[in-house]
Order: sequence, then structure tokens, then C-alpha cells
Amino acid sequence: MTKLSNEYIEEIVKACRPFAAKGNVIDHIPGLDQSSLTDLGVTIVTLDGETYSAGEDHHTFSFQSISKVITLLMALEDFGKDIVFQKVGMEPTDDFFNSISNLEDYEGKRPYNPLINSGAIATASLIKGGSVDERFDRVLSFLQKITENKDINMNQEVYDSEVKNGSRNKALAYFMESTGVLSNQESDDALDLYHRMNSIEINSLSLAKIGCFLSNHGRLIGRKTQLIQAEHVRTVKAIMLMAGMYNESGTYAVEVGFPLKSGVSGGIVGSVPGSMGIGIIGPAINKKGNSCAGGEALRILSRDLMLNIFHDK
Ligand code: GLU
Repeated sequence: MTKLSNEYIEEIVKACRPFAAKGNVIDHIPGLDQSSLTDLGVTIVTLDGETYSAGEDHHTFSFQSISKVITLLMALEDFGKDIVFQKVGMEPTDDFFNSISNLEDYEGKRPYNPLINSGAIATASLIKGGSVDERFDRVLSFLQKITENKDINMNQEVYDSEVKNGSRNKALAYFMESTGVLSNQESDDALDLYHRMNSIEINSLSLAKIGCFLSNHGRLIGRKTQLIQAEHVRTVKAIMLMAGMYNESGTYAVEVGFPLKSGVSGGIVGSVPGSMGIGIIGPAINKKGNSCAGGEALRILSRDLMLNIFHDK
């Protein structure tokens, strides 16, 4: 079987970089433009504490949809499974991530799951704190702890653009207010927290650490303290496998075979149960919203290292 090394990750980056030509960089997110088209950073952090990394792994980019994983972890820890899944479902959907029409047809007019925009806005209302500032501070300190990166923070320019381009998310929040998923005290704050979380700056190393934290059942490597209950971490990974790669999640479950979550700035976090976390940045995304080069890197890693959880051991 292939052995992990920095040279091996470098080969993957080299082989996958050309796949960026199949996609486009989203144009309304500050810090991302055509000059980042062929960027690709791939980082692996193993449960033994080893790091293997190559490419543009030091570049920061905005968290976008990957933040939905953090929202769900914190909401589950703050309120428990029953309350979270009264507000959102746990079913996959083949609609686009910002669909409003699917809010009309699902049971109780709830979002299908917490990893689409409506679901993440609803889940954000379940992060505890006396004000949005306080809640966002809790998010940042949790994130800084699990990535062991004190520098993680929000990018103001990205936040301003999220708010400016956020009419669709506003519509989702107010629609959910009209159907009682959110109260009218909750919706503006949940929306603001959602936009702030999308605007957090992160790199592939920190993403790999998040993946590793999930693989390690909610603990930091080498530590016994359970920061998130293992049962909640399991729930989040199951939902990532079903719904983490937008409406391409089924394809990724088959072709890669472990929990993933992507974002429209081209980031992907992966969690291989019992073995490693993977962080990827490849800003050229396909029509479904997933990194073209990053997706290819995951297929190769899964095949070479036999990471598919459905693989017969
Ligand atoms: N920030 C964008 C939104 O809220 C994109 C989120 C994503 O990465 O899917 O619509």
C-alpha cells in the first residue's frame, strides 16, 4: 500500500492541479479571483500526530459552507440531538444548497438537513450566547482550540460581501420565520452568525485538524478531554457523508467513501474514521460547488491509501 510522505502529497498536487481547468473560481468572494484558479493545497494530519502537506497549504481562504460542520457540532453540544432535529431534518437532498423551494415541501417545512443554507441558518439559532458577538466568540474559541491555531478570525471584507450578497439567505431566514422554524427574535441573529461563520479565514492545515478532531471522536490528539460528545461527532459525520458535498454527495460517498464537507471557496474537509483528517483548498469549483482539483485529490487518496470506509478490511 502507498506510504504517506510529503513527496507523495506533492505528487498528488502535481497530478491534480490541471483538473482546475474544468472549473471556475467564484467571483464575488474577496480574496478569490482568476489568479487563484490553479492553487491547490493538500494537508493530511494523522491520529498519530504526523502532518503531510504540499502545494498552497499556507494560503488562507474563507470557510464558507464548511462552517456548517462547526455550527452543527456546537448546536448538538448546546441543545442535544432531539432539539436540533426538531428544527432541521437529517435527510439528503438533491436540490441546490441555497434552495428555497425545498423548504415548502419537507415535513413541517423544515430544512432537509443542517448542511444546506436553510439548515445551517436554523442550526445557528441553537448556538448559545447572550448576543451574536458572544456566540461568535464561542465559535472562534472552539475553532481555535480544535485547530490549535490562535490566529483564526473573521475576514471583515468577506463578511461585508456575504451580507451584501446575502439576499437569498435573508429570504431563507424569513421564510423559516413564517413557518415557525425560527422565531422573529431568532432569525436576524441566526443569519448574522451564519454570515460571520462563512467569513472565517482558514487554511488547509487547520481544515485537516478539524477532520482529525472528528476522526478522533471529538478529542484533540493525545488528549483525553471530550470537547464534543462522541455521539454528536458520529451524527455529524453521518450527515457529512450523506449531504456534505452538495448534490454530488452520493457520488463522493461511492467514489471516495468517507465523511466530507466542501465550501464554494474550494475548501474541503475530510474525516477518515480512526486514521486521519484531510484539508484541501482548490478554488476552481464545478457547477455543483465542489473543488475540481480537490475532488480528484480525494479520489486518488482514497484509492491509494484504501480509505473508503466500506472497503473490506
Ligand atoms: N456564503 C455562500 C452562501 O451563504 C456560500 C456558502 C457555501 O459555501 O455553500 O450562500
